[in-house]
Amino acid sequence: MPFWRRRNDEPASTEAIEPAPPQPEAVEPAGVEAGWEPDPADFDDPVRSEVPAPAELAAETPPTTTVGAGLDAGLQRTRGGFMSRLRGLLGGGEIGGPSWDEVEETLIAGDVGAALAIELVERARARRDPGGPEAAIRAELAALLVPRDPDWTPHSAVPGGPAVVLVVGVNGTGKTTTIGKLASRYVGEGHSVILAAADTFRAAAIEQLRIWADRAGVPVVAHAPGADPGAVVYDALDAAIARGADLVIADTAGRLHTRTNLMDELAKVRRIIDKRLPGGTPETLFILDATTGQNGLAQAKAFHEAVGLTGIVLTKLDSTAKGGIVFAIEDALGVPVRFVGVGEGVADLVAFDPEAFVAALFA
Ligand code: GDP
Repeated sequence: MPFWRRRNDEPASTEAIEPAPPQPEAVEPAGVEAGWEPDPADFDDPVRSEVPAPAELAAETPPTTTVGAGLDAGLQRTRGGFMSRLRGLLGGGEIGGPSWDEVEETLIAGDVGAALAIELVERARARRDPGGPEAAIRAELAALLVPRDPDWTPHSAVPGGPAVVLVVGVNGTGKTTTIGKLASRYVGEGHSVILAAADTFRAAAIEQLRIWADRAGVPVVAHAPGADPGAVVYDALDAAIARGADLVIADTAGRLHTRTNLMDELAKVRRIIDKRLPGGTPETLFILDATTGQNGLAQAKAFHEAVGLTGIVLTKLDSTAKGGIVFAIEDALGVPVRFVGVGEGVADLVAFDPEAFVAALFA
């Protein structure tokens, strides 16, 4: 099912949202649909009103990307790490009491988390699986992963409106890189994509996003550094509606989850999306650096509470020997990992398939 269609596959109508004329110079929200008045509290950033905020739509260039590296290849390090140890422990078939302790330790070392590792081992032992301990652990690990639609793509629930992906997470986790990869992926599939440079905290972030936008051949809506991120997202939605674009991907400033005001600001961006596209619930993707281990889990929980995550992208899985965080995070949040990053290149983003993942770990 194409992602710009409604979930119920009704043909998209353009009646529900009046395409707003492009407003490249606008700072204040414009082209609001009938019945909604902007709430000044949503645009209360004092910096924004002082900064001219020209929204820019870059020229389009043809995409050159394809989705590349396989999950199997990307997981080489992970597989060579805790999983090979686990296999070594489980592979003999016969497992005595002390070996289960080692299995538990190995799971903990692989970032599954202590409490979960203990539970897993208890459940695996209790299974008395005829396939042996490996089959038992494998089945228990697979059971932790959230059921999902294997054909998932971002979709618009609003007739005539774009699908929206809001990308959140702590600085340095790979947000911008992942946005670039996602843009290339969807452009490669024939969709029109607009990026929103709503990380207005750092001028460098806007520039970095432009570089990825150029690579993917997509326009980027940006204001000046320091502008209100909500206004940037708002203008990007306007531009997408005016152009009939399929997808808006919004970058956001990397927030330390302990900084409440920044988390509140993110919640505000979320509200602006809800107001400009009522009913068009965005996909809120949390970018998690797999090398940060259990600390990343704490980050994810804080973001989930603040904005309600709907998906996770686990980056840098190529550079860590610990893949257990996948199980920990899905079990803790009940939110699916949508993609994994397995390198720095544009094609190094792989759709996450739980069965293939477990199979690849034990291969
Ligand atoms: P942001 O601050 O969250 O936007 O993070 P960036 O997108 O700037 O990425 C931070 C660093 O991580 C950069 O050096 C990226 O090349 C690198 N990076 C991002 N994703 C991956 C990945 O999947 N694998 C590897 N090895 N590096 C990655």
